Amino acid sequence: MTLHIPFDNSYAALPAAFFAPQTPTPVSAPRLVAFNADLAKLLRIEPGETEDMAHAFAGNAVPEGASPIAQLYAGHQFGTFNPQLGDGRAVLLGETLGSDGIRRDIQLKGSGRTPFSRQGDGRAWLGPVLREYVVSEAMHALGIPTTRALAAVETGEDVFREGPMPGAVLTRVARSHLRVGTFQIFAARGQTEELKQLTEYAIARHYPDADGPMGLLTAVRDAQARLIAQWLSVGFIHGVMNTDNCSIAGETIDYGPCAFMDAYHPGRVYSSIDHMGRYAYGRQPEIAVWNIAQLATALIQQMDSPETGVEQAAEIVHAMPDLIQSHWLALFRGKLGLSTAEDGDATLITDLLQHMADQQADFTNTFRALGTPKARDQFTDPMAYDTWEPAWQARIARESDPLGTLARTNPAVIPRNHRIEQMIAAAVDGDYAPFNRLNHVLSEPYTLAKADMELNRPPLPDEVVPATFCGT
Ligand code: AMP
Ligand code: MG
Repeated sequence: MTLHIPFDNSYAALPAAFFAPQTPTPVSAPRLVAFNADLAKLLRIEPGETEDMAHAFAGNAVPEGASPIAQLYAGHQFGTFNPQLGDGRAVLLGETLGSDGIRRDIQLKGSGRTPFSRQGDGRAWLGPVLREYVVSEAMHALGIPTTRALAAVETGEDVFREGPMPGAVLTRVARSHLRVGTFQIFAARGQTEELKQLTEYAIARHYPDADGPMGLLTAVRDAQARLIAQWLSVGFIHGVMNTDNCSIAGETIDYGPCAFMDAYHPGRVYSSIDHMGRYAYGRQPEIAVWNIAQLATALIQQMDSPETGVEQAAEIVHAMPDLIQSHWLALFRGKLGLSTAEDGDATLITDLLQHMADQQADFTNTFRALGTPKARDQFTDPMAYDTWEPAWQARIARESDPLGTLARTNPAVIPRNHRIEQMIAAAVDGDYAPFNRLNHVLSEPYTLAKADMELNRPPLPDEVVPATFCGT
């Protein structure tokens, strides 16, 4: 059987200004190390022989029906505008219509140089590829919008980072790769026609009910507001919320130096390049608003009356903090086992979080254990938990199924950094057992078998991963 991907490409049919045709660069000895059969089924892909798939997902053989391109975009990186980025190490093979009717991109990441590679080698090494695979699939299992991972291939070639590392290619699936930065590049260049075309394309593809540029802005704002609150609810820190990593479809995209927090602190930063804490856990809401403000700035360039555009856009953007806050409140109510709303709930949540921050309580395990002795054990000074618990007990006494709500809203297991690092180290040595185990356990994060309990243990002192790195 040969691999068959039912391509139905729309982006490559846009005018040439939007991309550069680009075939992936072949590699010497591709080896398929991961294939996501469930996702393939959703995409209506017929898997082929392993050898066949290794060649296709390494970019050695372009599957029939693909129209490979590198997409063009710009972006604010750490607040500074970079007028031209683009796919420097990725190639969009094309799109499929899934069995759920949803159109999705199939992209190879790490597939060689493109006209947008700048100084880069166009490649990725195995570590970030497996990290993105595991974390994006875990995110999906947590019910949070995200790009997904279809396959991972080792290339048989070294890439040079701190030293020689095994090269790899990830096959990434996304509702689209449209970013805030895709709009920014045409706005910055004054290419109003292209900006209009892109706006129409994004509306038709993602938000068919949206009315014009301000309708699109509103829809993206809403999707991002919800997404950011969901990140906060599982202790996720994206790490590089640049505008080129902010998806128009509202998916989590670009798993670089991301991390799930162990001990809770709003100022937590893992990324080795985020010296100022711009993308710290607790700053993610304001950064998301900042990103949406950049989208607003780009979108209004196409409006006939810029003054009204500015007014409307400002109103849309200014409403975002409250939107995030209300999603946050709803999600954290759930995390406390509450399915009804009372006035004191926000205080109850923030009081607990304050104690957790003061006492270095583990984010995931504290919420998961609420109401059991294990919860107080998470605090360096358990008295802090004891002072909070009575108010919470009184509150859940007015709930019908608080324990059910707790178990449904608080994951038992998350992809912890030290487990990811251990998994990568093993894979580099040719042992994929930890990778397969993580994928398996994280596919059902709300239950955890006894045998897998060690996977929700916070890192021991010698396991702590102090910093995470970009895939570059
Ligand atoms: P990222 O940090 O992955 O969001 O990438 C930011 C920009 O740098 C994008 O335009 C990437 O395509 C580009 N880039 C990252 N790594 C490489 C690489 N190894 N070779 C070429 N371009 C890269
Ligand atoms: Mg990126």
